[in-house]
Amino acid sequence: MSSRTDADRCTVVVGCQWGDEGKGKIVDVLAEDVDVVARYQGGANAGHTVHVGDSEFILHQIPSGILHPGKRCLLGNGVVLDLLQFFEEHDALVARGIDLEGRVGVSLRAHLLLPWHRVLDRAAEAGAAEKIGTTGRGIGPAYEDKAGRRGIRVADAADLDRFSELMARGTERARKRLLALGLPLDGDDARALDEAMEQSAALRERILELAVDTGLEVDQALRAGERVLLEGAQGTALDLDHGTYPFVTSSNTTAAGAATGIGIGPTRIDAVLGVVKAYTTRVGNGPLPTGFDDEMDARMRELGGEFGATTGRPRRCGWFDAVLARYAARVNGLTGLAVTKLDVLDTLPEIGLCTGYRLPDGSTVTEFPADTWSLESIEPVLEMVPGWESSTQEARTLDDLPAGARSYLDRIEELTGAPIHMVSVGTRRTQIIHVA
Ligand code: GDP
Repeated sequence: MSSRTDADRCTVVVGCQWGDEGKGKIVDVLAEDVDVVARYQGGANAGHTVHVGDSEFILHQIPSGILHPGKRCLLGNGVVLDLLQFFEEHDALVARGIDLEGRVGVSLRAHLLLPWHRVLDRAAEAGAAEKIGTTGRGIGPAYEDKAGRRGIRVADAADLDRFSELMARGTERARKRLLALGLPLDGDDARALDEAMEQSAALRERILELAVDTGLEVDQALRAGERVLLEGAQGTALDLDHGTYPFVTSSNTTAAGAATGIGIGPTRIDAVLGVVKAYTTRVGNGPLPTGFDDEMDARMRELGGEFGATTGRPRRCGWFDAVLARYAARVNGLTGLAVTKLDVLDTLPEIGLCTGYRLPDGSTVTEFPADTWSLESIEPVLEMVPGWESSTQEARTLDDLPAGARSYLDRIEELTGAPIHMVSVGTRRTQIIHVA
């Protein structure tokens, strides 16, 4: 296997901003050197885009390690599994020639995301006074059912009678909820839900064939000396506890969530690699402290191709927020940073880094505040540095980079307090600098 040491045998890869940091590409690059890649939270709202040769793959639930032949890919108990979407993605990969035989495992403890969760998600968002900007894919309601102890787990599929009973009960409950929300399902919508439920139920045996105890499997892999990557979806600022609540996702995206979301103890994790974009983006609602004005926002969106992989939604853009990145370094216990999309800044004459937040009373804070609403009224304290105005795309070592780009990376390292281990300078696998 790999010649690297045991220091990072079990590594968590975690997003350190609002998601879309390019985790898919980093996991894809690292996957070459590991045996198992496991997703620990989230659902089909996350979309990783990975470029292999001239092909583009958008993965929603299956870890991006799947694009490396022979690697085992797991979905942990912390994931909410959309059966229809999962098999659609699974079969699409097979249709594109990816051999999945014996390579995908799903936790017996993972909760199922069912068609009614999508319907409830859209209804709740439509009726909400404070819109979260959800993707409408049912993730929130599926986690609500899990926490409410009425969810259906993969393990429940083992017993046909129990499974059918739980599915019928869940459908009935969803109908009542919709009625209570003043949005009763009727006509075509009711028929579409019934049909989708039947399609989901028909996948019972297929999902059982893939069902495993992911904690046990990862534990055994580590004991056998194999290398494991634990892959998160979304990012730190979208963590249910540590993000910009309520504009967050419904699970723990941060590194600690990897232990609970796979079923291993935190002491089994050796390294935590935080992924940050060289600037900041955010999709969905909620504050973005370093957000650009409209003109610069549109320019960066074009330069960085900042449109959602799952929904196509335009992302809002801003300068690199070192306050958030330093917070992410602490909350995740980062042992290293991967900086992505450095090349997107190649043409800019001047680049900003946010070192603090100026409050309306004139004082400045450098710790990320718990009060999400206070972020609406802060002014970012910006440090402007000269751009390098040349291409970084061909760089494969730090020395290949223009001096300005190196200084920019040094400053990111200084401000976040985490050492940079990787720098990504383009969408392709080869466009990567390994620092450590
Ligand atoms: P993820 O969910 O964190 O994996 O992020 P997304 O897949 O939503 O967004 C990352 C996008 O940026 C994808 O289209 C990647 O191909 C692209 N990308 C990743 N790294 C780089 C990079 O270093 N440079 C450029 N230009 N694009 C990148």
